[in-house]
Amino acid sequence: MPNLHSLLRNIDGYKDEIIELQAGLTSRIALGPENNGTGEHEKAAYLQTIIEELKPDYIKEIRAPDKRARDGYRPNLVAKWKGKQPGPTIWVLSHMDIVPPGDHSLWATDPYEVKIDGDRIIGRGVEDNQHGIVSSFIGLKAILESGKRPRNNVGLVFVADEETGSKYGLEYLLKQHSNFFSSEDLIIVPDGGNKDGSMIEVAEKSLLWLKFTVIGFQCHGSTPDKGKNSLYGMAKLVVALNDLKQAFGQRDDLFNPPTSTFESTKTEPNVPNINTIPGKNIFYMDCRILPHHQPDDILVQVEKITSDVAAELGLEIQVEQVYRQDATNPTPIDAPVVKALAKAIKTIKNLNTEQIGIGGGTVAAFFRRAGIPAAVWVTTQDTAHQPNEYCLLSDLISDAKIFASVYMDELNEEGN
Ligand SMILES: [Zn+2]
Repeated sequence: MPNLHSLLRNIDGYKDEIIELQAGLTSRIALGPENNGTGEHEKAAYLQTIIEELKPDYIKEIRAPDKRARDGYRPNLVAKWKGKQPGPTIWVLSHMDIVPPGDHSLWATDPYEVKIDGDRIIGRGVEDNQHGIVSSFIGLKAILESGKRPRNNVGLVFVADEETGSKYGLEYLLKQHSNFFSSEDLIIVPDGGNKDGSMIEVAEKSLLWLKFTVIGFQCHGSTPDKGKNSLYGMAKLVVALNDLKQAFGQRDDLFNPPTSTFESTKTEPNVPNINTIPGKNIFYMDCRILPHHQPDDILVQVEKITSDVAAELGLEIQVEQVYRQDATNPTPIDAPVVKALAKAIKTIKNLNTEQIGIGGGTVAAFFRRAGIPAAVWVTTQDTAHQPNEYCLLSDLISDAKIFASVYMDELNEEGN
C-alpha cells in the first residue's frame, strides 16, 4: 500500500497544526447553561471556519433552541465530503462542550490555555472531546491535502450538550434530521477507549441519575431536640443506599467495570454557618446499570430504602429522577464499523482489538436506540473531567492515521 503509507507518513508533519488546533479549541470555552456557561457558539464558529477550508460538499449549522443559551440556541455542526464511490458514510461524531475545570487550585496551569509538556498537551477539553475532534479532522485533512479523495463518504459531526444530557445535541439532531444518518452508515464516537487504543466499545449500561431531598427541621446548633437534622438523615441514607450493590450485583465480563455501580456524588449547600442544624439536605446519585437489571426495579428498591430511613428518623425524603437513559441493544461485534476500526488499528498499530461494554454516558446509545450501529473508540489517557486533563500528541497522530485509514479503506480496495 505505497499510497496509504506515504499519506500516513504525511500525518507526522501535522504536529504543529494539531497543537494550534488544540490551543484554539481550548481557549474557546464551551460550557452549557447547566454548567453556568452560555453554550458552544465560539467553538462552533471556530470549527466552521476550519472545516470550510477543506471545502466540504455539505455543511450545516443546526441550532437547537435553548432559551438559556446565548442567542437562544445551541450550535451543532454537520459537514460531509463525498467519497470516490457511492455508499454508506463514515461518520465521526465528537462533542464540543466541556465540563468546568473545577477547583482551579488543583490545576498547575490555566485550564483554558494549552500547555505542552513533552508529549503531553494539557488543558480543559484537550482529551474530552477535542482529541476526537482533532484526530478525525486531521485524518481527513491529510487525505484531501495530498490531492486524494477518501474512498468512502466521510461526515464529521460536532455536537453540543453531550456533558449534560444531549437534549440540545445529538438527541435534537436525530429528532429533527433523522435522514442524515442511515443504518448502513458507519458511526464512530471517539469519546471513550483505553491507553493503547485496543478497546472498541459496543455496549453501554443504563444510566440513572437521582436527586434526594432530605427534609427535617432547622434549629440552633445547641438545641438539637428542637429540630430534625437533615444532614444526619442524608448520611444514613447514603450508607443505606450502598445495599443496592448487593441487591443488583450481577456480573458481566463484557463490561468494564463488570458490575453495576451506584455512587452518591454531588451535594448541594445546606446552611452557611456552623451553629445551625440543617433542615434540608440535597444530594445526588449516579447509577450505571448492567442491561441485566431493569432501572424500574432499582427505583422500587431505592424508594423502599428511602422510606425506611425516613420512617426511622421521622424525616421526609423525596426522590426524583434527574436523568435516565436505558441500555440499548449492543452494536454487534461483527458490525461493519467495528470491523473497519479493528482493521485500521491492526494496520497502524499492529494491535488486536477487544470489544467491550462500558458504564454508559456516551452518545452512541442514541444511535443504537435509533437502530444505527455505532462504535465508541479512541486512544485515551483517561484524564477526562480531571484537573490537569491531558492527551498525548503521539496518540493524536496515531488516531488521525487510524481515521485516515478508515476513510480510505485501502485494504478493501486491494480486496483483502
Ligand atoms: Zn466526552
